[in-house]
Amino acid sequence: MQTISSSVDGSAVSPMEFNKQLRGLLGERGLLDGPADLQPFSTDWRGLFKGSPLCVALPRSAQEVGAVIRACAAAGYAVVPSGGNTGLSGGATPDTSGRQVVLSLSRMTAIRRIDVYGETIEVEAGCILQTAQEAAAAQGLLLPVTLASQGSARIGGIVSTNAGGTNVLRYGMARNRILGLEVVTADGQIVRGLRSLRKDNAGYDWKQWFIGTEGTLGIVTCAVLQLAPMPRHRVTALLAVPNATAALEVLRTARQEVGDALNAFELMSRGSLELVVRHQQLRIPVADAPWFVLIEASSSLQGLREATEAVLMAALERGDALDAVIAESQRQEADIWALRESISEAEGKEGPSIKHDVSVPVSKIPDFLEAADEAVRLNFPGMRINAFGHVGDGNIHYNLIAPTGTAHVEVNRIVHDLVMAHGGSISAEHGIGQYRVDELLRCKSAEESALMRRIKRALDPSNLLNPGKVLDTRDS
Ligand SMILES: Cc1cc2nc3c(=O)[nH]c(=O)nc-3n(C[C@H](O)[C@H](O)[C@H](O)COP(=O)(O)OP(=O)(O)OC[C@H]3O[C@@H](n4cnc5c(N)ncnc54)[C@H](O)[C@@H]3O)c2cc1C
Repeated sequence: MQTISSSVDGSAVSPMEFNKQLRGLLGERGLLDGPADLQPFSTDWRGLFKGSPLCVALPRSAQEVGAVIRACAAAGYAVVPSGGNTGLSGGATPDTSGRQVVLSLSRMTAIRRIDVYGETIEVEAGCILQTAQEAAAAQGLLLPVTLASQGSARIGGIVSTNAGGTNVLRYGMARNRILGLEVVTADGQIVRGLRSLRKDNAGYDWKQWFIGTEGTLGIVTCAVLQLAPMPRHRVTALLAVPNATAALEVLRTARQEVGDALNAFELMSRGSLELVVRHQQLRIPVADAPWFVLIEASSSLQGLREATEAVLMAALERGDALDAVIAESQRQEADIWALRESISEAEGKEGPSIKHDVSVPVSKIPDFLEAADEAVRLNFPGMRINAFGHVGDGNIHYNLIAPTGTAHVEVNRIVHDLVMAHGGSISAEHGIGQYRVDELLRCKSAEESALMRRIKRALDPSNLLNPGKVLDTRDS
């Protein structure tokens, strides 16, 4: 393995001097360095990782981001970009060296423009996803990246993690919505590519280097996102199904009957819903079953409800569904979605867990689940399985509720080996961060790893940006 050299190993500038320098650049409110202010940036949403940020820089413009990066490079301190800190892989948490500056985009929140004809929104990196969604909705448009964390996650984090969520089946990952980006590179240069074009084959599509690369290649400061028309009608249904294969049969029928209007197709195990019933006091409005499927479809055309009813009827007749309901009101829709969206929180209340955010080809989901359940029972008899996910796009959250102190490494290895044996990916949407660096190395070919390291070296030769995340940049 080739080493990516680091210029941020030693600094001639003391932390106190450096903070003073940054305060000079950003103003009094542009820097946090008190222990209480640093605390939220010292750990991740799950509390798995702990770090010691030197300070938190809060720039207000791409120019100020560039100035912070140049100051850090000159003084020998690394930069860790941070959005809403809802990432699930520790990507925004600094290390414990005290030599990393957290760069928070939270003061860059402007929605610069919404183009109602082109259906685009230009929005700064610190804007909260939900705020951007509401601004689009006020113009009759939909920003279809939808996640349970949308009230806290910021646009820069959404871009940098290539976030997925519950609407990927219809609208794709964040990458599919990104038309243009403005980024600040590791040398502090601002690169402006805020185009709102659907068609643009003029040269390399360089914005892709900054999507899903978790702040290791540059800082995203602004984005142009493709919106969609806001559908007028929506149907939400919940089905009780006997097994994962039956769920795939329902998916097939839904694709045939409802077509592109199908937004979400979520699978939840009985174990998952037992957690939400226990901890969130929610009620399941269908009969008990080993698995449950949530379907959401939307369209501006008439006939959506009838088409969805046809899916449910066919599934019940075939025995692929044991029971089914369609929401009759917005309240009932919200109640059905609450079951799905409360699983993570309920899991947290149940106890510590080991999470696997994996994907396999849709047709292999039943085989993967069977093989993984068997391996867990055999190797880790005390663990409980909490499997659920965005099954319409092959993404399963295969989580294991495990006693504190269980070694994640061994569990991850067994689950990820099975994922790879089924032609899957060890990270469907949560990224690599610092949590899966070793696993990424293990599951990529030597050529793929070498290519990624060449890109990192080309764009960030000093390893200034988010060192230790995604790629293993230690000497070896
Ligand atoms: C309850 C819950 C539900 C979730 N559901 C989903 C889901 O369904 N689908 C999904 O994909 N994810 C999900 N997530 C994970 C998380 O919300 C997403 O990864 C989100 O995109 C992170 O955004 P953030 O602003 O919080 O980023 P952060 O956590 O702050 O950062 C994430 C990564 O991006 C980097 N980064 C942040 N901002 C920038 C920037 N401006 N420039 C460069 N790099 C940057 C950070 O360094 C870090 O590596 C969920 C999380 C929670 C807590």
